[in-house]
Amino acid sequence: MPAAEASGGPALLLVADRVRTLDARRPEARAVLVDSGRVRWVGKDPSDAPAGARRIDLAGTVLQPAFVDAHVHLTATGLLLGGLDLSVCRSVEDCLASVAAIADVTPGRVIWGSGWDDLAYPEGRPPTAEELARAAGGRPVLLTRADGHSAVIDRISLETAPLARAEGVERDSDGHPTGLLRREAAHVARRWFSAELPQAQLREARALVARHAASLGIASVHEMNGPDQMGAEDFDAWRQGHWPIEVVPYWGATDLDFVAARGLRQVGGALLLDGTLGSHTAALEEDYADTAGAGHLYEADTDLVAFVSEATRQRVQVGLHCIGDRAVRQAVEILEAVAGRCGLAAVHAARHRLEHCALVATPLIPRLAALGVVASVQPTFDIMWGRRGGLYQRRLGAQRAERMNPLGPLVDAGVCLAFGSDVTATTLDPWAAIHAAVHHHRPAFRLDPETALEAATVGGRRAARQDAVGRIAPGQRADLAAFEIDGDHAEACVLTVVGGQVVHGPPVPAAAGRAQGARA
Ligand SMILES: [Zn+2]
Repeated sequence: MPAAEASGGPALLLVADRVRTLDARRPEARAVLVDSGRVRWVGKDPSDAPAGARRIDLAGTVLQPAFVDAHVHLTATGLLLGGLDLSVCRSVEDCLASVAAIADVTPGRVIWGSGWDDLAYPEGRPPTAEELARAAGGRPVLLTRADGHSAVIDRISLETAPLARAEGVERDSDGHPTGLLRREAAHVARRWFSAELPQAQLREARALVARHAASLGIASVHEMNGPDQMGAEDFDAWRQGHWPIEVVPYWGATDLDFVAARGLRQVGGALLLDGTLGSHTAALEEDYADTAGAGHLYEADTDLVAFVSEATRQRVQVGLHCIGDRAVRQAVEILEAVAGRCGLAAVHAARHRLEHCALVATPLIPRLAALGVVASVQPTFDIMWGRRGGLYQRRLGAQRAERMNPLGPLVDAGVCLAFGSDVTATTLDPWAAIHAAVHHHRPAFRLDPETALEAATVGGRRAARQDAVGRIAPGQRADLAAFEIDGDHAEACVLTVVGGQVVHGPPVPAAAGRAQGARA
């Protein structure tokens, strides 16, 4: 049973400098009483609280609804936390030195890294299979690109992995595979590698990432798994395990039996209508600026309409991954066709979601709102790729790049936003997402801090159709986090509560009435 379904521990009175409730009826308070997993009382004066609770003093902090990360790939993130982070590397040479260093200190392990970015390297390319084999001394190496959609592997793995029929194996002018794998080939390799990973390495990775999320004030994550991600065994490990945080699992396939057998009411997420801009696989209305072609759609309209209609009839929510404007248009047209078949009310009740929803033609925005979809967006991508000369400009040209991630216009049109990190494409860091949304490179696309906080907390609850969680108000599930705040800049998370249980922070006082300092 996930922590969030637990009935909660002892009654707790949490007293902070300030409580941001996100509840319009009582936006500001100082104290919150948590009992049996729920918020029981919210007030300005702790002495007004019902007596008998154990008190945790959170001096110098702001208490708020805990964060939701609405788009994560957990096990890969955990493997990275315990593995090799290449996001700091500035060249192929750097990457290879990092591989050699980790090979030395982690004997017997598969070298699992991510975060390389050929666009930032003077060599203008990723490491090759030969280079990786040499650097790792013959150990298996899989390094995922920063966008998560391409990978490079070492020469021995390249010859052993079942890639013969996979699409996306890059070859040099002589027809030899280079080690770079895109699309299907990257997925095949990742699956094959994860099957090679020792179970202990996987278990450690899962525990590590769940603890890490809790330590950041994240109470709930939406795990985007699927047959092309880590696969069914990993999906079930997340679904059945005991974690300090709540894990809402999404299975990225058009397979309703798979989710029904597991009692789930959501499917998709990593159900790809297109790929990514970084890998030139996002589907665009017009050609890329830096290569011929406009990407392509992965799924036929008729198949998608049939699938989403059936899901809608079963009240199962569907998440559709769409990045390019052509893919976003496909998603809108499909959902409109489904509304024609099943009724708009049924589409609203299913509350389907679009993952990324990154390049959106302006006329589509009100149509998204009318469909009642949630846009599961990653504001941090703007920081990474939205600046002058960045990935968006290179791939799309300056004019189209200015249309990326229209957060403000989506909110203004009434589209519910949920923030996610899409780790391992970025890092788990909810404050970074808020900061990126508030400081979007295009002022017209910015959110105000309050709206951004809403999208990073309550928005994720709406995205998971959890309407009794998210705000600090009596009756709501107690998922809370306290942060040391310096001006508008959040620092350390000092307390995370999930379903009334303290999962990160000070020990709960042993007896009622005894004060406990969080920062002692
Ligand atoms: Zn993703």
